[in-house]
Amino acid sequence: MRLDGRTAIVTGGANGIGLAIVRRLVTDGARVMIADIDEAAGAAAVEAISGDGEVRFTAADVSERLDVHNLVARTIDAFGSINALVNNAGIVHAADFLDLTEADFDRVMNVNLKSAFLCGQAVARHMVERIGEGDEPGSIVNMSSINDTLAIANQVPYSVSKGGVSQLTGVMALSLAQHGIRVNAVGPGSIMTDMLASVADNPELRTRVLSRTPLGRIGDPSEIAAVTAFLLSSEASYVTGQTIYADGGRMPL
Ligand code: NAD
Repeated sequence: MRLDGRTAIVTGGANGIGLAIVRRLVTDGARVMIADIDEAAGAAAVEAISGDGEVRFTAADVSERLDVHNLVARTIDAFGSINALVNNAGIVHAADFLDLTEADFDRVMNVNLKSAFLCGQAVARHMVERIGEGDEPGSIVNMSSINDTLAIANQVPYSVSKGGVSQLTGVMALSLAQHGIRVNAVGPGSIMTDMLASVADNPELRTRVLSRTPLGRIGDPSEIAAVTAFLLSSEASYVTGQTIYADGGRMPL
């Protein structure tokens, strides 16, 4: 078990990639707090996974400072400390650049990018405090995307927010290195979750995506969970500031 004794928060952990990460971290020995707005899925996840280890759920909109404050406080109450954070919550909004509204731009930026700042800062402050009391430095993983550099025409705030997540990862890593806290990102390609429904359900788009994916298949959430678990573990003790792409070798569409 590579994460024995560690405690982690996984945002957006009730579904999709986040849920696969929760399963993997619990399997690897961590105690995990799921933070999500989907309370029904959160409760179902706890029910399904708790036989394998300790997992809890807090309802939280991680783009809201107060929710983040409460999430961190509840996790410390439950587990005593936080050693790992996965900033995974994310949403998409399809619209042509000329039609996109300010409200939709802000919503995607807040959920995908601002949440990583809010959670990252709150958890890192806690980690720095605990290091002062003798704890090992913790580790943070942000969920980016291949779209941090590859723009998609009708996903304006999504592409911009993921570019921001990779850059935020770099500056957090630089700022927190003095404390020994490592910060990395994972950049998934096309992974089979609800978020990918528009691709999976559209044969033409699916064929186009696969034609640009050398491994020739859509990825499984567990394959993103494996990279995340590695980055959080001491196996990655000399890795910080990186975005690791798990994308089947994906090339621009
Ligand atoms: P998903 O839609 O299956 O799951 C996203 C989860 O985030 C859901 O449980 C949802 O309730 C939660 N969430 C949404 N807004 C929230 C908020 N404000 N506060 C807390 N939780 C919130 O999506 P997914 O495919 O599992 O995506 C997870 C992450 O992976 C996202 O950051 C996404 O951008 C990234 N990603 C996914 C793919 C892919 O192909 N699926 C590719 C690249 C990157």
